[in-house]
Amino acid sequence: MAENWRQAYLRALPGVDVVLAAARRAGGERFPHQLLVGAVQEIIGSLRRQILQAASREELDEFNSTPEAVAERALARLQQLRQPSLQRVINATGTVLHTNLGRARLAEAAKEAMQRAAGYCNLEMDLPSGKRGLRHAHVERLLTALTGAEAACVVNNNAAAVLLALNTLAAGKKVIVSRGELVEIGGSFRIPEVMAAGGARLVEVGTTNKTHYADYEQAVDEETALLLKVHTSNYRVVGYTAAVEVEELVELGRSVGLPVMEDLGSGLLVDLSAFGLEREPLVAERIATGVDVLTLSGDKLLGGPQAGIILGKRAFLERIKKNQLLRALRPDKITLAALEATLQIYLFGDPLREIPVLAMLTMPKDTLKRRAERLAAALHERAPDSLTVAVWEDYSFVGGGAMPLTRLPTFVVALRHKKMPQAEWVRKLRTGTPSLIGRVQDDWLLLDPRTIEVAEEEVVVACLT
Ligand SMILES: *Cc1c(COP(=O)(O)O)cnc(C)c1O
Repeated sequence: MAENWRQAYLRALPGVDVVLAAARRAGGERFPHQLLVGAVQEIIGSLRRQILQAASREELDEFNSTPEAVAERALARLQQLRQPSLQRVINATGTVLHTNLGRARLAEAAKEAMQRAAGYCNLEMDLPSGKRGLRHAHVERLLTALTGAEAACVVNNNAAAVLLALNTLAAGKKVIVSRGELVEIGGSFRIPEVMAAGGARLVEVGTTNKTHYADYEQAVDEETALLLKVHTSNYRVVGYTAAVEVEELVELGRSVGLPVMEDLGSGLLVDLSAFGLEREPLVAERIATGVDVLTLSGDKLLGGPQAGIILGKRAFLERIKKNQLLRALRPDKITLAALEATLQIYLFGDPLREIPVLAMLTMPKDTLKRRAERLAAALHERAPDSLTVAVWEDYSFVGGGAMPLTRLPTFVVALRHKKMPQAEWVRKLRTGTPSLIGRVQDDWLLLDPRTIEVAEEEVVVACLT
């Protein structure tokens, strides 16, 4: 038999009707009845579990099961459900492709295109003829014009692009990959696992640091369907290393009659090395090597929406487009609209100015300094009693698993709260409206103007004062 104190707590739990009456007195009428009943039942259930699981009476010291308290928790839960879960965040971390904050910030033209496509649109209708159209057609010509590829196809993300391409080209067959390229990206994308999901058999060649042409050559047999190269986006093997370039793999592929695919990851369309960034392979350069299939992300360095882009030779793309899996991986109209608008900027606009990711990555140091000083001055003026404000030189990062070695010189606003403990203050900013997220370093909260929009600066000041 349960202890007396436990029994007493259980007996004191209010009934659903009593709590519902209390909830109605507290404004519960604004929620649908069934939702309110469900929330009240859940809260009572969790209180019951808490009583049953308590190891001692002391654990229940703060326990409050009055009808009013239970009603208040149920109403708070429903109120939260009514709020948008996806909220605007001010990214002051200086990490441009922050995966947890939605990777690329989209261009204005992309946002407008998403609005336009949100209602009915000609997603799969050729308007002049009135006949069935193809959803890829909206971006295929832009992609081939930009990269020199013969054909293109778009899916939901690059993981899906790799899966679809492997499944089409190598299901039930062997795929040869260098051991140094069996990467894990973003915690869940692992080449061996994607390969297995696509039904292909992985053949690893070489060692972690060195793989030679002959390693690939010797591994080829009748069951081989594909030679695969994977861009090691988020790490680098340095020192005593050797890798086979995609050009050489293409040569081997030609001589043994096998297609070659490269998973490029980020997909950079314009050279940024003049701005102090690592030299990344450009998409057009990779296509020019003669590689048969190339895959990349839409929301990394390309600066567009989450998407996977498959480029390559027409014959292979025809097969990929006929794969039934594509039906499960195809992008929606909103993605295609944003991608189209982003690609049009590359072809007809000024990408370094109009694509936020590129503008942020190439922001001049004196601009960053001026913006950090302006923000610091505003904070110092508005909150001299609560904030200690300084401006420092520091570094921003590319993020998104791209260019891991690149540290971009920047200026940050360094802040300390004079009254509130740091953890509490940082949490308050993070859960505010809008949410403000900076970089915590020792006792300081750093705000990097690189990833803050100019128009957001006033909002940042308001969040902090
Ligand atoms: C980022 C990355 C992926 C995964 O791309 P998603 O668009 O996030 O699915 C796959 N391969 C490489 C090499 C990458 O860099």
